[in-house]
Amino acid sequence: MNGLMMQQQLLISSLLVHADRHHADQEIVSRRVEGDIHRYTYRDLARRSRQMANALAALGVKDSDRVGTLAWNGYRHMELYYAVSGSGAILHTINPRLHPDQIVYIADHAEDQVLFFDLTFLPIIEAIAPRVKTIKHFVAMTDRAHMPRETKVANLLCYEELLEAQSDRYEWPQFDENHASSMCYTSGTTGNPKGVLYSHRSTVLHAYAGALPDVLDCSANDSILPVVPMFHVNAWSLPYVGCMVGAKMVYPGPGLDGKSLYELMESEQVTLSAGVPTVWQGLLGYMEQNGLRFSSMKRTVIGGSACPPAMTKKFNEAYGVHVLHAWGMTEMSPLGTVCAFKPKHLKATQEERYAVQAKQGRGVFGVDMKVVDPNGRELPWDGKSSGDLLVRGPWVIEKYFKGEGGDPLVDGWFPTGDVATIDADGYMQITDRSKDVIKSGGEWISSIDLENIAMAHPAVAMAACIASKHPKWDERPLLVVMKKPGAEVTREELLKFYEGKIAKWWMPDDVVFVESIPLGATGKMLKNRLREQFKDYKLPTA
Ligand code: ADP
Repeated sequence: MNGLMMQQQLLISSLLVHADRHHADQEIVSRRVEGDIHRYTYRDLARRSRQMANALAALGVKDSDRVGTLAWNGYRHMELYYAVSGSGAILHTINPRLHPDQIVYIADHAEDQVLFFDLTFLPIIEAIAPRVKTIKHFVAMTDRAHMPRETKVANLLCYEELLEAQSDRYEWPQFDENHASSMCYTSGTTGNPKGVLYSHRSTVLHAYAGALPDVLDCSANDSILPVVPMFHVNAWSLPYVGCMVGAKMVYPGPGLDGKSLYELMESEQVTLSAGVPTVWQGLLGYMEQNGLRFSSMKRTVIGGSACPPAMTKKFNEAYGVHVLHAWGMTEMSPLGTVCAFKPKHLKATQEERYAVQAKQGRGVFGVDMKVVDPNGRELPWDGKSSGDLLVRGPWVIEKYFKGEGGDPLVDGWFPTGDVATIDADGYMQITDRSKDVIKSGGEWISSIDLENIAMAHPAVAMAACIASKHPKWDERPLLVVMKKPGAEVTREELLKFYEGKIAKWWMPDDVVFVESIPLGATGKMLKNRLREQFKDYKLPTA
């Protein structure tokens, strides 16, 4: 017997309609590429998204056509989130930090029909326009007054002109919730990037989960500043959650340096933010140098790579901001786990709480996870047994776009490529990416643990721990360190800093100091690059 409830499809447009009806006067504030601060409301967002949906139809965009964006976080990008997906087309957010060759590859692979871009990225558009095969229109996300006077791009269209030419009357079409809504390519550190195709259903369910108190904890009383880019896995769902709960949204545009972020957080009384550890370093450095404090910030979500405990501590003790450590991936929409406390932790000591926060957290309802040994047998949740982490759930990938790479699943589970433990309370901790593990004498050493310790040293700006060849042990840890400007520390002092913090056999065999550590398009350390750079390095112990 079926239930007797309405069969209403879960569509992204319904989030916008909800925000328009229930939170019409809530603000959306954006720092623009044009240099000023723009503010409007959810009512304006809904109206202009309807106009943009009409403009897309006028450009000949049809159901399931891919529409690309190369854009910062801002209100026009949010309009495209709703106009493109809501009208039945597919929003393809592209990471502008990728190499132009990769951008051409993914725009062709996705068969994008139109590409919207922020003016910052005009040089990229000029480089790729003669090369891409399917894009018929390039649209600059600006008004007539700011349109480039001279450009090599033929027939460049203007966002505001397209929009203003259209009526704001538009009925959002109703269709099956399994219809594709948006797509994002994995960064492809090895091989070509692969497309992940989200659906309306997966996106709306993911947004519901994202808003929960033990997840991102969002409400109409929040002012949310996503530093995580809208071109990276849907800004961890925040542009959807914003409409769902009616939160004030604050978009930083291109201003991702410490000063710009701090000023916006203060002027817009931001309560919640989200981003990768590297951006927070910039913000914390700026605040420290200038002796600044927050007046409204309460919590920040940190994920994308491991949040060093030293950062969690700094946020908490110096600035009164609670860190929510989170883990996920492009293939998971991205939310997988978030580190929220259980009641027992509220009675624990501060040090015990920091130890919990070093973990990536508990599974969000909707994501089932397990760790397995090399034979695929599930390992116990004891906080010690580490193995490959597998996940499944309604917002986890089943197949890559166009079946690239074959069937990614193992018995219905998606192998994340991460190595992790899960403790008896269900807190998962990533020890490594499988390709980054250091295998010494048949045992694994966690590179993340070793990096976290180095990052707690006051002279260290960034540290990467990689495997270095060893005749006896196969591999041993080599620590690559970038110092803070003006700070001094020696190899011996750093190694001494490890004493008592780790098992002796985990001690890095050597330390090398570098001017900079290479970062990938999403702000993560490129350890494969470092492994290449130090592949012939001779350890003193070898
Ligand atoms: P890519 O790095 O290829 O762009 P994603 O952005 O999807 O792909 O990153 C997913 C990966 O990032 C995860 O599989 C994991 O290795 C790493 N990651 C994400 N969050 C964390 C975290 N909090 N701690 C450690 N690693 C993380």
